[in-house]
Amino acid sequence: MHFMSLNSLKPSIIKRMKQAIYDLSFEDLENYLVAVGSKKFHAKQIFKWLYEKRIDDFALMSDLSHNLIAKLKEDFTIPSLELVTKQVASDGTVKYLFKLFDGSLIESVLMVFDYGYSACLSTQVGCNMGCTFCASGLFKKRRDLTVGEIVLEVLTMQKYLDEEGERLGNLVLMGTGEPFDNYDNVMKALGIINHPYALEIGARHISISTCGLVPMIYRFADEDVQYNLAISLHASNDELRSSLMPIAKAYSLNELFGALKYYSQKHHRRLTFEYLLLAGINDQEKNADELKQLMQGINGYINLIPYNNVKEKDFRSSSNKATLHFYDLLKKRGIAVTLRQKKGDDIDAACGQLRADYEG
Ligand code: SAH
Repeated sequence: MHFMSLNSLKPSIIKRMKQAIYDLSFEDLENYLVAVGSKKFHAKQIFKWLYEKRIDDFALMSDLSHNLIAKLKEDFTIPSLELVTKQVASDGTVKYLFKLFDGSLIESVLMVFDYGYSACLSTQVGCNMGCTFCASGLFKKRRDLTVGEIVLEVLTMQKYLDEEGERLGNLVLMGTGEPFDNYDNVMKALGIINHPYALEIGARHISISTCGLVPMIYRFADEDVQYNLAISLHASNDELRSSLMPIAKAYSLNELFGALKYYSQKHHRRLTFEYLLLAGINDQEKNADELKQLMQGINGYINLIPYNNVKEKDFRSSSNKATLHFYDLLKKRGIAVTLRQKKGDDIDAACGQLRADYEG
């Protein structure tokens, strides 16, 4: 775009080229303010307007000068997500289908637990990881979500909760997409969400889930952040994992656990291992034995996840009996294990399922 003269663009295009204010970190905003001859400290006011008071009009920023408001209007938009549809489950889980500026559809989910509200965020439009059991992969990745779009998922659901006087206190990046395949935008968005003048969701209340992009785990390990890390394990040996998750062909369990040990040395934080229970596939005694070997010396626990059946896929969830049996097998082997509460059972709760229904 830089080689085009702005004058040659149609006004509508110029309008769209304005940046979404939600793309800016606190530091970006400070730098912008200095660059336009204003003062750094206005960043705090602007952040509070956007994220604490949650207003969506620059004109309402009443402690800023008219000049600064005019400048902000000239350079930025305050966009919103368009709600296409939502599904409400009997346990209070709400799944939202949002439309982005280019027509792309994404899902975000709001869940209520005894410790408060938690949101599940998407990080990409579609997903390229190709896990065989997952509905998200029914659509190849169209694009990464921008920083502002990830921020907006959280802000939008918080606005819904404002109507009930409630607060969104926890985030899991377990919706559509692979967070570590959109690393920079995800980390920047979380920095905004976590900021003390923004939504202030504590880092320890934010979990990033990855299918295991090993180089990115090393990169994440080197960051000075306290987010929780969850690994989609789902299998106890390389052969089984490769048959379920193409990423396992690129990185062996040995390489994956090498990266996780590096992370653990640096952070001393407990890792979560997500393990979907697929009937007859990964819920046998042999799998428990192999998991015991894998987990040796690892500061982490296995979270057993009931599989949400996806109608386009042949996999079936392990029965309740088989699930409890597998839980016991792990316990007996001294592995720290939890059983995930099933949420949104009576709606299309599997990642990507609502979008699949809508577009399919
Ligand atoms: N790409 C990331 C995050 C998104 S998937 C990752 O792989 O971790 C979030 C979690 O939901 C992963 O553990 C994924 O394997 C799991 N998942 C996918 N399809 C599911 C389904 N139908 N039922 C239950 N969990 C599912």
